[in-house]
Amino acid sequence: MKFATKAIHIGQEPDELTGAVTVPLYQTSTYAQEEIGKHKGFEYARTHNPTRFAWEENLAAMESGTHAYAFGSGSAAVDTLMRLLSAGDHVIMAEDMYGGTFRLTDKVLRRFGITFSYVDMRNVANVEAALQPNTKMIYTETPTNPMMTITDLRAVAEIARAKNCMMVVDNTFASPYFQRPLELGAHIVVHSATKYLGGHSDLVSGIVATNDEAIAEQLKFLQNAVGAVPGPFECWLLLRSAKTLAVRMEQHAANAMKIAAFCEQHPSIVHTHYPGLASHPQHDIAARQMSGFGGMISIELGSREKAVEVTKRLKLFTLAESLGGVESLVCHPVSMTHGSIPKEQRDRLGVTEGLVRLSCGIEDVNDLLEDLESALR
Ligand SMILES: *Cc1c(COP(=O)(O)O)cnc(C)c1O
Repeated sequence: MKFATKAIHIGQEPDELTGAVTVPLYQTSTYAQEEIGKHKGFEYARTHNPTRFAWEENLAAMESGTHAYAFGSGSAAVDTLMRLLSAGDHVIMAEDMYGGTFRLTDKVLRRFGITFSYVDMRNVANVEAALQPNTKMIYTETPTNPMMTITDLRAVAEIARAKNCMMVVDNTFASPYFQRPLELGAHIVVHSATKYLGGHSDLVSGIVATNDEAIAEQLKFLQNAVGAVPGPFECWLLLRSAKTLAVRMEQHAANAMKIAAFCEQHPSIVHTHYPGLASHPQHDIAARQMSGFGGMISIELGSREKAVEVTKRLKLFTLAESLGGVESLVCHPVSMTHGSIPKEQRDRLGVTEGLVRLSCGIEDVNDLLEDLESALR
């Protein structure tokens, strides 16, 4: 079965009881039991919820996984999967990643005796060089937020498998429509479902998928034990959103490609970062492992003053954190999403005062181009 069909049908079968074509919203905390020890397999809603199960089955299918576990946010999903580790374990992480993930590893998980090396994953040799006898996990994000750098997933997965490490990929930017890391050798995929999976800027949620039975068992245990589960309404909205993921992603990417080409030739823009551009240093790797380049672009305007001015003048691109919704957003990573990353690390990555990130929505692209043109003028 092809992607768009899976997205609409797997986990989304008509309801057995009534024939409702939409999965019902089971807004309940508990389930009546017939007698002690006799029930329908549903006991308590942290552990069992049919709406959540449907969404988990749906996302697992979209990611070519066998199991998925949903969480209250992308950050809760990352935190829970990190609990696969124990004190004394070492993790190799991409240095260019979502600021909140860095904050979680550096400010919280480090206190529990897990150590982290942050490396430039554009070069696979840096991953080899960072390996330690106690390395248990390699964690990357691709394309990265906000620099749009690419990790060669197949190459890193080979290292991880040779060294018996788990390989984790944050697939939030690409979405499973454009990139499926499990097919390339990763063990675990994680999403901030708040972004493209939700797609309408109306919920906060997270999800993890795997095709490894042993990891799935542990994740299921941790999901219940830690308890950072989403409410059923979020799962219901995500099932709704999954039905349009394919068409939304096509439009996000088509709009982003036109906007990136426009930005690249604009005299006021110093540099345009978009993996779909032939000028992107890792365009070839992106083209090999992604079937499309997504809707995220970063542009370097040269100074904080220009970033402030342009973001103020934009009318259709709303200045806001987050991304992946149908409406276009613009953000200033240094002062908004990446404040928790130390300045010298930001400078090394290129996350400058003049960098602005665009989340290209699915409005008419001519209106978006006009908005950019007049803001830059
Ligand atoms: C937003 C985001 C997260 C965190 O997810 P929340 O749902 O905000 O907790 C993690 N990774 C990436 C790439 C993100 O964009």
